[in-house]
Amino acid sequence: MAQDSYNFSAGPAMLPSEVKLQAIEELGRNGRDGFSVIEISHRSDRFLGILEDTEHRLRRLLSVPDDYKILFVSGGASMQFSMIPYNFLNNGDSADFIVSGYWSEKAAKEAAKCGRANLIFDGSSDGFKTLPNPQDIVCDPKSRYLHYCSNETIHGLEFTDVPKGSIPVVCDASSNILSKPIGVDRHSMVYAGAQKNIGPSGISVVVIKDEFMKSALPNRLAYMDYRLLAETLSMPFTPNTWGIFLVGLVCEWIESQGGTVAMEERNSLKSGLIYDVIDESREFYLGHAVEDFRSRMNITFKLEREEMEVSFLKEAELNGLHGLKGHRSIGGIRASMYNAFPVEGAERLAEFMREFRLKHS
Ligand code: PMP
Repeated sequence: MAQDSYNFSAGPAMLPSEVKLQAIEELGRNGRDGFSVIEISHRSDRFLGILEDTEHRLRRLLSVPDDYKILFVSGGASMQFSMIPYNFLNNGDSADFIVSGYWSEKAAKEAAKCGRANLIFDGSSDGFKTLPNPQDIVCDPKSRYLHYCSNETIHGLEFTDVPKGSIPVVCDASSNILSKPIGVDRHSMVYAGAQKNIGPSGISVVVIKDEFMKSALPNRLAYMDYRLLAETLSMPFTPNTWGIFLVGLVCEWIESQGGTVAMEERNSLKSGLIYDVIDESREFYLGHAVEDFRSRMNITFKLEREEMEVSFLKEAELNGLHGLKGHRSIGGIRASMYNAFPVEGAERLAEFMREFRLKHS
């Protein structure tokens, strides 16, 4: 059904309306049929059931093999930028990094505080417009892991395949997890902050292979130690119970829509509608990423005449198209369309972009 306004926020991003209604209903629970999940013990049978159910749904949706744990960690993906090197890198150790944009660069900088961050690809010199070819990736066999970001939310670049590392591969999938089948089994760890495709902010999902987890450094601070998180069902402390509940609802919604394969079809359709307008615009709109590496989640572009971007954003708002301003680090326009974003919203943006071009060229 067509809406009055569409939310292109990069994150925290829109949730499916069905999930929001269920959340409202949950918050209204009081009295004889129990209290709402936000106000009950994380050790209660009800919450433990929710935790188990959410884990099972994620395991099914992501095809997680049995020898991987799924952890719910408080904090965003940036917390993982710190936790991963803290758990795996000693002073003398190194990790390999594919630096393909703002977020993987941050991850590498954080890791360099614990050990050596080898940049085996660095796209900064061309303003992060390209990704490496899988056959060009050569890891240092002595490095503890290879880290990459499967979708650069700010620059709008997305890997179409998992980089082949001869060492454990760790992926920041914050902005494209559950948007397509991602091949968890080809990684030693996949992590994602929830606020784009899985739920609210303040919680991350970490999928980690047992063998990799066991290779972590000994004697880590308890609450930053993946092993303790795994042993305690993600609850060495009070977890973000409301966040986990919402993640479960979002997973249920994705399953009801046909899972990650259906999500991939829809996401390709939505992003294709906008890339078509960019490509037919004779450089009125200038896409940021090189074509083969374009993200289906975050479409980033500039206007040929940069001074027109202010009117583009203003007119877009008047047309009910919100949250299109690019990240402060690169400017321009960014249309983020995660799983919950409806096809009609993409159609509306495509139509607006065509009209704007006709009016202003
Ligand atoms: N990685 C990626 C790919 C992101 O898009 C973001 C946030 N936009 C982060 C990491 C950091 O997430 P948080 O702010 O939740 O720590």
